[in-house]
Amino acid sequence: MYGDTEGAVSGQSGCIAMVSFGPVAQDLQESLRAGLEPIFRIALCLTGQVLPLAGWNAERQQYLGEALLAELHRVWLPDALRVLALTEADLYADDLNFIFGEAEVGGPAAVVSLRRLRPEFYGHPPHHELFARRALVECIHELGHTFGLRHCPRPGCVMQFSDRIEESDRKGPGFCPVHRAALDAALRRA
Ligand SMILES: [Zn+2]
Ligand SMILES: [Zn+2]
Repeated sequence: MYGDTEGAVSGQSGCIAMVSFGPVAQDLQESLRAGLEPIFRIALCLTGQVLPLAGWNAERQQYLGEALLAELHRVWLPDALRVLALTEADLYADDLNFIFGEAEVGGPAAVVSLRRLRPEFYGHPPHHELFARRALVECIHELGHTFGLRHCPRPGCVMQFSDRIEESDRKGPGFCPVHRAALDAALRRA
């Protein structure tokens, strides 16, 4: 796992807007804001916007991640640098059984599903801190994509691809030095 450079929220005019597809607990959104702002050094705006879900696949009983990204473009907030959506719904991509989230590399839209981040999903007892940490890791990963970062082969980097919760838990919220530098460069351009 890697540490992150601490820093104050920047004075940039744009913010990262947070919205949800369907209701998502306010306290989780608040804790994600507190976790994300020092890493991206951009203010998180909790817009409170609750959007209707899109991209339902009745056969799979899941929503198509890219349909949600398309929805985010429809509700695009002009002053937002990026838009991050949370949802309790289960998501998939055409070539994957499920996804923890999806984002556009280079921005602006990202979506994270909370569904498979709760220990209860795997038959374990509830554990709010673990759930909140997983949500933070997945939000950092997807937002990292929106700032142009691609998947990372270095162990422990938050930009490693994960399709199992154990892999997500192993990588943690920190960027490797290469990706931290790439993110800092992207933030300077944002
Ligand atoms: Zn990814
Ligand atoms: Zn990396």
